[in-house]
Amino acid sequence: MRYSGFRVIKEALTGHKGWAPAWRDPEPASHYDIVIIGGGGHGLATAHYLAKEFGQARVAVIEKGWIGGGNVGRNTTIIRSNYLLDGNEPFYEFSLKLWEGLEQDVNYNAMVSQRGILNLIHSDGQRDAFIRRGNAMILNGADADMLSTAQIKKRYPFLNTDDARFPIKGGLAQHRGGTVRHDAVAWGYARSADSRGVDIIQNCEVTGFRIEDGKCKGVETTRGFIGAGKVGCAVAGNSSRLMSLANMRLPIESHVLQAFVSEGLKPVLPGVITFGAGHFYCSQSDKGGLVFGGDIDGYNSYAQRGNLPVVEDVCEGAMAIFPMLGRARLLRMWGGVMDMSMDGSPIIDRTHIEGLYFNGGWCYGGFKAPPASGFAFAHLLARGEPHPTASSYRFGRFEKGLMIDEKGMGNQPNLH
Ligand SMILES: Cc1cc2nc3c(=O)[nH]c(=O)nc-3n(C[C@H](O)[C@H](O)[C@H](O)COP(=O)(O)OP(=O)(O)OC[C@H]3O[C@@H](n4cnc5c(N)ncnc54)[C@H](O)[C@@H]3O)c2cc1C
Repeated sequence: MRYSGFRVIKEALTGHKGWAPAWRDPEPASHYDIVIIGGGGHGLATAHYLAKEFGQARVAVIEKGWIGGGNVGRNTTIIRSNYLLDGNEPFYEFSLKLWEGLEQDVNYNAMVSQRGILNLIHSDGQRDAFIRRGNAMILNGADADMLSTAQIKKRYPFLNTDDARFPIKGGLAQHRGGTVRHDAVAWGYARSADSRGVDIIQNCEVTGFRIEDGKCKGVETTRGFIGAGKVGCAVAGNSSRLMSLANMRLPIESHVLQAFVSEGLKPVLPGVITFGAGHFYCSQSDKGGLVFGGDIDGYNSYAQRGNLPVVEDVCEGAMAIFPMLGRARLLRMWGGVMDMSMDGSPIIDRTHIEGLYFNGGWCYGGFKAPPASGFAFAHLLARGEPHPTASSYRFGRFEKGLMIDEKGMGNQPNLH
């Protein structure tokens, strides 16, 4: 069924009896050409592009829970392509371009909102770094705009730019950045992949790999063995746990990241703002809640819940730039498990086991990535070659010292 304004009106006039389930609930087949493990943003996008762009129809996505239950439905919904390094910027710009056509591509309203993102500047050194980053973005075809304090004050009059603990000295804006409704991304990709013949199998946990003579033949699951020509792993925070089933030890640690939503407020925040002197980022949802987050929790964990010191830290960041929020009530908060690689950048690569491929290490920046990540992973799975925008995301960079260290200071596992 194709979704359209006409369809909404027709269904409204006829008692909403014509809506079909967004995707089927098939029994797993005994064998697929390609099995993707993980029904999050990356796994589902991979399935969509495999079917749509690379002509692969015998594909299954195996999800241990339900679609949208992982980080894809837990994040703070920010999309952007404001990166510095050559290994990253072309990839994230490719992703942003795909976001711009995503709703038409998958025929699903994902509420893609290019309301702009603004990184605040609080020191002269930070201004130099952001000018450099903005230039790198422009060189890679992205948009970047250095804003003065006066320009920021005009758009965000409530910001204290002058006598705050961290005065605002300008900002780096990317006007094409913004937010997307996170779980709608999962639903849209799932529906589109399903309509092209992909089997989406929920409540099915992968518990092992069948590896014979160095080749992966399929996966053991809670619903029995599923044979596969190729297996692609895209389980985000569970990457280390899953790959340990194939006796692989990854350069990845898992940590909790929390997100927060305030009670509904009148429109106050037209775009996404990030604080440059601490870890705090915020946008306002269409329902009025302020959606915000900060740093990951300071210990390794696979629990999807966080601890109070980080809540305090994030709220301090909020108060530093939005003191007016002191009386807003926190409505709810939750956690997701982040897969932090040892240089903070992702991995999209084949493994040393024939037929076994890996996609992970997205940590807390992976929601903006599924379009490009899915496309690149599908490219790798279907053609056996890395996609040009993801050619740096290889395992081998850790052996060769070719880190993609965006902040130039490592991932800082010692601090987390
Ligand atoms: C609080 C929070 C805020 C964030 N904010 C942002 C943001 O603003 N911008 C941004 O770019 N990124 C953000 N992120 C990061 C982003 O959400 C993640 O990097 C990204 O969603 C991870 O990829 P995914 O969607 O594929 O993961 P997931 O949705 O977690 O998908 C992985 C799936 O694999 C399944 N799985 C695991 N093990 C197995 C198994 N053995 N068998 C079968 N299935 C399995 C899981 O159940 C899960 O559904 C945030 C994350 C969190 C938690």
